Amino acid sequence: MAARGAPYLDDLNPAQRAAVETLDGPVLMLAGAGTGKTKALTTRIVHLLNTGRARPNEVLAVTFTNKAAREMRERVGRLMGTSGEGLPWLGTFHAICVKLLRRHAELVGLKSSFTILDSDDQLRLLKQLVQAAGIDDKRWPARMLAGIIDGWKNRAWLPETLPAAEAGAYNDMGPVLYAQYQTRLKELNAVDFGDLLLHMVHIFQQHEDVLAQYQRWFKYVLVDEYQDTNVAQYLWLRLLAGGHKNICCVGDDDQSIYGWRGAEVGNILRFEKDFPDAKIVRLEQNYRSTPHILAAAAGVIAGNENRLGKELWTAEEGGEKLRLIGHWDGEEEARWIGEEAEAMQRGTRGMAPLSLNGMAILVRASHQMRAFEDRFLSIGMPYRVIGGPRFYERLEIRDAMAYFRLVVSPQDDLAFERVVNTPKRGLGDKARQKIQREARAQFLPLVEGAQMVLEAKGLGGKGAVELQRFLDNLRRWQRLEASAEVGHVELAEMILDESGYTEMWQNDKSPEAAGRLENLKELVKALEQFENLQGFLEHVGLIMDNDKGESEEKISIMTLHAAKGLEFPAVFLPGWEDGLFPSQRSMDESGTKGLEEERRLAYVGITRAEQICTVSFAGNRRVYGQWQSQLPSRFIDELPEAHVEVLTPPGLYGGNFGAAAQGHGRSGLEQAVSEADVYNSPGWRRMQARASQRPAGQPASSRGNMVIEGTVVSAFAVGERVFHSKFGYGEITAVEADKLAIVFDKAGEKKVVARFVVRASEADNIPF
Ligand code: ATP
Ligand code: MG
Repeated sequence: MAARGAPYLDDLNPAQRAAVETLDGPVLMLAGAGTGKTKALTTRIVHLLNTGRARPNEVLAVTFTNKAAREMRERVGRLMGTSGEGLPWLGTFHAICVKLLRRHAELVGLKSSFTILDSDDQLRLLKQLVQAAGIDDKRWPARMLAGIIDGWKNRAWLPETLPAAEAGAYNDMGPVLYAQYQTRLKELNAVDFGDLLLHMVHIFQQHEDVLAQYQRWFKYVLVDEYQDTNVAQYLWLRLLAGGHKNICCVGDDDQSIYGWRGAEVGNILRFEKDFPDAKIVRLEQNYRSTPHILAAAAGVIAGNENRLGKELWTAEEGGEKLRLIGHWDGEEEARWIGEEAEAMQRGTRGMAPLSLNGMAILVRASHQMRAFEDRFLSIGMPYRVIGGPRFYERLEIRDAMAYFRLVVSPQDDLAFERVVNTPKRGLGDKARQKIQREARAQFLPLVEGAQMVLEAKGLGGKGAVELQRFLDNLRRWQRLEASAEVGHVELAEMILDESGYTEMWQNDKSPEAAGRLENLKELVKALEQFENLQGFLEHVGLIMDNDKGESEEKISIMTLHAAKGLEFPAVFLPGWEDGLFPSQRSMDESGTKGLEEERRLAYVGITRAEQICTVSFAGNRRVYGQWQSQLPSRFIDELPEAHVEVLTPPGLYGGNFGAAAQGHGRSGLEQAVSEADVYNSPGWRRMQARASQRPAGQPASSRGNMVIEGTVVSAFAVGERVFHSKFGYGEITAVEADKLAIVFDKAGEKKVVARFVVRASEADNIPF
């Protein structure tokens, strides 16, 4: 098999082909999004193998995310057909370094069975060291030290090679603590993430024989997303390819989005210096996106001063403009996107139906995901979260649901096992085994087995007392649940509080704890939509069950960072609001540099889209239970108007309700308390003001369309008859901010959000 039969080369343009066919020596491919860099890189791997230049294990290809690595592997596999004799070394820097380090661990004082610490463990360890050194960890939090040490590792600095200028870090104690930390890790036979590269660079630098072995072994080195390599990664690559110099790097300076993790665009420039005879390939034709999408992305990235600068073009014609839409709040945004996705599935605006697999929602911050997950769960739209667990798969949610399951169904042994010692109740393995044995012997559920063990005095000490309290609590919750004495939402809160579960996370000092508490609140919020705990659990159970079919079509939700290198026919970019995107933190911490990185992130987001790209923002967002008004992102102002179509929101109240509001004049929906509050919010007024300040002649952007002509509306009052789409008719018994307590004729007492309720007299107008 020679290049002779190489049909895969026919799919390339001349520049790509040149890059693919230049098999020896350094190659740098620097080009914009969607120009086929990854395609060229993958084809190059296939060509290396096909021409017999290298055997699969002689090729090392590095990329940035596991997902990108998997896709590359699939692409190579497909191109190779069945004749491929195995696949090359293909993975992330970290994945490859783990493999190498296991072989050479002893060279850095580790055993090959070393463990990799997660960030929780890392912080705990650092905290111990900080305390031992007598440093006030309130003024000098361990997390800050972790950040400093990571930064040093990203630059490949060991404690003994730290430049003198770094000595002042962390109240002059940085270098000392760094050294202690590294020693402690070795004692524990452990590494952190940064160590994987740091150790390998160190090994290559110190052990010529090892380096020489790998230089011979990996005859060809290829790197995708090169713009995001940090110094340690760069050194590692340069060492590996230093002999034969067969290294091919592809990247795009406009997509460098990991500066905060030490990535340096300067590595691109350094490459040309370190490999002076490198063949530089530039690609300018974009094969991914429609002209409008491409122009919109170009308009945004033009705002950056620090860029090499390049023009992209596409042979494609026509297509949709980038779509921009403003919403009342984050929930409305999620609802609208769900409906749009369904419409696209059916085929909308004269377009062929799209598969959910071809749609992605790219968010700036992972906390934005929950609104979508909630919405999709309630309308039954299958989705996947890339780069993190889905909401109902998160640890704290599974724990909480195990409590609920146990209350609804005391025989649920799996749930019992999960929570009996979470939070810690002093029940170790032995105690739990005793309960298991007892239950098995008597053919009883674990709950009852536990009671029998206690009665037989089979347990003593704190464990016995705590277990008895747990069982008593369980019984009480079960009684409350069965008698519906308290509403299920309240009961859920009660369970989480009284079990000590909430408190466990309140006392937890790990960086994840706050997020977990937020998720628990979100879980309780989700319960509001159900009749009782049972109904909720069934709903979630069905969803999780349905999910087993991996072949099912799903819409993807991920962060912009995780979307690098990917492409989708339809992309939604929600939450374009100043402070959220660009992120306030990034601007505060890194000023203009931070803002430019955020702008590159916007560029990455838009350029993921092939046919439809929808940017949206919300006027209000609920953050930690408080309404916050938002200003549209400054990046929205940078979108070139000629390539943007502004969509009108479907009635401010969105979704099904919108039609009612439009068709029948003002409905009672508009009288909800929460919305009245928001109407008067400063953010909304600022948005109106900005819309009216637009120079004459300039087409109104979204803000023009977003101006509300509404009157300030009155609140609901206690005693009023109302209608709720799920619970039917009822009477208001209490009003509390945006929540109403209502005794429904059929469903009993519930707390509901005011916006989901209309006055009974107006309910007939609404086509539920
Ligand atoms: P990014 O910067 O986003 O990583 P990229 O430069 O790596 O983008 P690819 O993902 O390789 O771009 O390619 C983008 C799309 O264009 C893919 O669908 C790919 O199959 C297609 N493509 C690339 N080159 C060609 C070509 N010569 N002819 C037709 N389609 C192409
Ligand atoms: Mg790519």
